[in-house]
Amino acid sequence: MRLPWRTLTLHTTPVRRASSVPASVLNFVPACNTTDAHSLDLLQDFVSQARRLFVISGAGLSTESGIPDYRSEGVGLYARTDRRPMQHAEFVRSAKSRQRYWARNFVGWPQFSSHQPNTAHKALQQWEEKGKLHWLVTQNVDALHSKAGQKRMTELHGCTHRVLCLGCGVISAREQLQRRFVALNPDWGAQAGAVAPDGDVFLDDEQVLHFRVPSCEDCGGILKPDVTFFGDNVNKATVQFVQDRLAESDAVLVVGSSLQVYSGYRFVLAASDRKLPIAILNIGLTRADHLAKLKVSGRCGEVLSVIHPF
Ligand SMILES: [Zn+2]
Repeated sequence: MRLPWRTLTLHTTPVRRASSVPASVLNFVPACNTTDAHSLDLLQDFVSQARRLFVISGAGLSTESGIPDYRSEGVGLYARTDRRPMQHAEFVRSAKSRQRYWARNFVGWPQFSSHQPNTAHKALQQWEEKGKLHWLVTQNVDALHSKAGQKRMTELHGCTHRVLCLGCGVISAREQLQRRFVALNPDWGAQAGAVAPDGDVFLDDEQVLHFRVPSCEDCGGILKPDVTFFGDNVNKATVQFVQDRLAESDAVLVVGSSLQVYSGYRFVLAASDRKLPIAILNIGLTRADHLAKLKVSGRCGEVLSVIHPF
């Protein structure tokens, strides 16, 4: 029997307050009114009642750290540029595509890797430390949860701070690869433009023509960021591991994701099948709004920083 959860879609007040998000970062955060007090109270109740909270986080959490997402209206990369993310099959098939990808990634890396966790990441880390958060699964590949000290966490789509060898499977640090890029390309210079959610930047073909890409030092295999590119599937064992953590949880909170990608959405479907209460904090519509007991529209950092774990 379904629990009599009522779906509440909450409207925000039309009054804007001074934002705690720096103006430079607001370039990447979709327009949003300040969340009203009633919504905050309901979200507080939801979090307080959960004993083993399962959190799903997405790109909306990191926009407040200055990392653009792909899909947000007006400010996401799809809206601002004609850029589309790297496809897995193309990366594996084409040496030219890998050269272009790594050249851009090399240029974008110093800036991309310097992003810092914001108040949302820090709040979730505190919830873990205080025993509220049972498990966190993130769709983000920016390492900001781990930089914030999150431990009970699965990076569903991997992490740009690691490199995977497609030949022997060895994992190495992205920072180490940067040093190899510098050594192989001593005279190669290009300026970073806009940096994508996976660290990619924009360079023309002429600029990447002479960029040299190293291969695995152990086996000579192809090096790829340890992230799930579009068109690739998340590892089955990883999905099962996260499903097991979900089965141990008693409530689900989605933060900063429209859940358009199935790999994250599947956990909300599983939670719904398990009759777990679901709350969503996101700016704009999500694929799972019809499954949620509570929907709050607001900036993740501003909202989570005023919600107490108990
Ligand atoms: Zn290898």
